[in-house]
Amino acid sequence: MTNTNGFSDSQESALLDDDAFSELQREIGSNTLPLLTGNMIEESIEEKFEADQKYDVTNLTQQYVEGKVMKNEDSPEYYPSSEATTPVREEFPGCYNFQFSLANQESTKHRIYSQSLRKVFINMDETLPLRFKWDPPDDGLYLRTTMVFSLDQYASDPVRRCHNHMALNNTNNRDYDPRVIKHVVRCLDHSSMYEERNEHLSVLTPLRTPQPGSQYVLMNFKFLCKNSCPSGMNRRPTDLIFTLEDHKRTVLGRRILPVRVCSCPKRDKMKEESEITDTQPEAKKRKHCLPVSKKLMPSCDTHVFNVQLNIIGKENYLAVLKYAYDIMAGQASRTGQYEFFKPYMDDILRKTP
Ligand SMILES: [Zn+2]
Repeated sequence: MTNTNGFSDSQESALLDDDAFSELQREIGSNTLPLLTGNMIEESIEEKFEADQKYDVTNLTQQYVEGKVMKNEDSPEYYPSSEATTPVREEFPGCYNFQFSLANQESTKHRIYSQSLRKVFINMDETLPLRFKWDPPDDGLYLRTTMVFSLDQYASDPVRRCHNHMALNNTNNRDYDPRVIKHVVRCLDHSSMYEERNEHLSVLTPLRTPQPGSQYVLMNFKFLCKNSCPSGMNRRPTDLIFTLEDHKRTVLGRRILPVRVCSCPKRDKMKEESEITDTQPEAKKRKHCLPVSKKLMPSCDTHVFNVQLNIIGKENYLAVLKYAYDIMAGQASRTGQYEFFKPYMDDILRKTP
């Protein structure tokens, strides 16, 4: 079987393993394989970031942030230092058992949830209602919502709106502070504050406490660009990171929701789900065949390397892409870690002419 990209579906047969990759790496030379730290970065950005800007979307007045005056937009300090930082993605419930759920899992033409992918597909400018829960439901806590790129190689790139949708004559931008306009995600709670830290954008919303008789707080979100927007997200998959924070910005819990903002949520959901199921039967088949000693898969090397090479000849170029695809498909099959490998394999498919 061959898919539209000319790649064999029996990738696992090829299967170059880690040794082969190491061999390739030695041949190419490690200098040409810059290590992208991606979500391997252990240190918490929350500790490193300074409070730089905070905007109130409703009255657009400047606010004090923990004793610091917000910088003027024209100030050179408006864009803070460019120290390498990547949003942290590890989920944890924390001592408050921080959880969220979709307020309404019913599919509509404009919004659909994939159980198998645990991912939301939604139209631009459509409301996404989510319920947030923390126990005990103390007052004085905040919800921070940050949109990030799912692939490790883009994890340090800030997610911003495209030039087209940021245009001031766009109706969605009317009466908004220009510094709010660049955010892809808006939280519709009126007390939301829009922040920029090391170029990464996030929305901070006071959670208050659930209404009497209720276990959760409802928050509505909107997305003001599509994943396909050129000059913006530019076809890169994205996740929402929700963090429960106290007034000192200490992260008390973290949750992730993959989101695709697109024109045809239903079509894109079916497409992404079929990509998963195309590979899963292989996993089941192999699982049953594996000898007992191999059932416990060793964790594979999950460091992500970004290779930039100039290849002479289209066939050679395609062969390199196919080789990279095959070794990852093989490893995904052997380890069962499809969800981890899939975005990287998809990325190769997108680059395949
Ligand atoms: Zn856009």
